[in-house]
Amino acid sequence: MDYRRQYIKDLFQLSPGEKVSAYGWVKTRRDSKGISFVQLSDGSCFKDLQIVVEEGAVDAESLKHVTTGACVRFDGEIVESPAAGQAVELKAAGLEIYGAADPMTYPLQKKGATMEFLREIAHLRVRGNTFGAVFRVRNQLAQAVHQFFDERGFHYIHTPIITASDAEGAGAMFQVTTSMGHDEKGYNITTKDPAEDFFGKPSFLTVSGQLEAETLALGLTNVYTFGPTFRAENSSTSRHLAEFWMIEPEMAFCSLEGDMNLAEEFLRYTIQHALDKCSGDLEFFNQRIEPELLKTLTLVAESGFERMTYTEAIKVLENSGENFEYPVAWGTDLQSEHERWLTEVKVGRPVILTDYPKEIKAFYMRLNEDGKTVRAMDVLAPRIGEIIGGSQREERLDVLEEKIKAQGLPAEELWWYLDLRRFGSVPHAGFGLGFERLVMYVTGMKNIRDVIPYYRVPGNADF
Ligand code: ATP
Ligand code: MN
Repeated sequence: MDYRRQYIKDLFQLSPGEKVSAYGWVKTRRDSKGISFVQLSDGSCFKDLQIVVEEGAVDAESLKHVTTGACVRFDGEIVESPAAGQAVELKAAGLEIYGAADPMTYPLQKKGATMEFLREIAHLRVRGNTFGAVFRVRNQLAQAVHQFFDERGFHYIHTPIITASDAEGAGAMFQVTTSMGHDEKGYNITTKDPAEDFFGKPSFLTVSGQLEAETLALGLTNVYTFGPTFRAENSSTSRHLAEFWMIEPEMAFCSLEGDMNLAEEFLRYTIQHALDKCSGDLEFFNQRIEPELLKTLTLVAESGFERMTYTEAIKVLENSGENFEYPVAWGTDLQSEHERWLTEVKVGRPVILTDYPKEIKAFYMRLNEDGKTVRAMDVLAPRIGEIIGGSQREERLDVLEEKIKAQGLPAEELWWYLDLRRFGSVPHAGFGLGFERLVMYVTGMKNIRDVIPYYRVPGNADF
């Protein structure tokens, strides 16, 4: 056995008469008189390989172990399939059982198990149709991210996961420490002086690699990160994880317009890539998860996004006649209900909102001439709400220092960030995109916990 054996997706390309072996996990087995039909999957494509086992063709004792969840190998011959939906199937001549799965206790038995139940067996759910499809699409989207940036001359960089700077203010942070006294079970008993801690000061898991990415862009011109990101927000929504993956491009010699153009190109490119590479999986999502999926993805891949300023959006919302739970007023942050109304009801495709009030956005965003708004942009998508947040960065030292002071941030800790404005500063811009929100958007999955193999939320880090 080695990894160079054929995948099931490749067996479908073969002509009748070829002798092959098919490796995988049994989805189902159905018996009728003198014949058994086995659906086998190795995760390489959406479609299962059908294996026809005639009586006496394989060892009868072994065949008993061919039940849902078992890991097996069938040897045999590719034959034309009389069944609809597949050109070929495998006529079995031999069988090896690698690992049986007792039908009395194997947890992933029934079709129609709820997403909540499947989350409790996250170690097995990938063997079902839905999660096999989710992780294949997730993989293709990740490949598309690297292709997209590579084709445009961006450098893939790795920013730190542990950081002592908590100045970014993007979200609540998880502390990283070795200085907690603990008992033999790992429970905290006492905490000591942070100066004696591993890093000599309080240190945290990163909430964004942006500030560090800026330092690399001012030297490499165009860079991006794609890495794990952590936020200790105590919110259990269907769109937030405590550990997620973020893509953050950063471009020197770039304004907010260039930033928006890149964001739009990026989404259209990655969606088109998924449409091209995962058609079987997306058809399944379209049938079973989100009826309008293929239509909306094709539309997004082919048409431009609407662009609107925050101020215009507030006017449109105020005149919408909708009874929102949270009132709309200039100066307040948009709630998810407002974002979804704009993109789903008002526009019907993704919208980019720009020029938000400076009070509700981060200190590093470039101040507009009006002195009230900043060069920020959020990309809002139907079904998801915010999928991207970005901005043109403040490149003027005096304006940046002023804003740091106004927001009460520790300027001395940001000395290196301010150095970028002291030495060789340039207009630059970038954005952050939550990778799981993209996977949700492309698959139509409703809960962010179902688009990552193991989800981290308040109260859950078990496995
Ligand atoms: P939201 O308003 O949805 O909480 P945010 O404004 O806090 O997001 P940013 O700081 O702008 O988010 O982060 C950039 C992107 O990262 C967001 O547009 C979103 O796609 C993603 N993101 C942010 N927080 C989370 C999270 N807790 N889980 C998953 N993705 C997230
Ligand atoms: Mn945001």
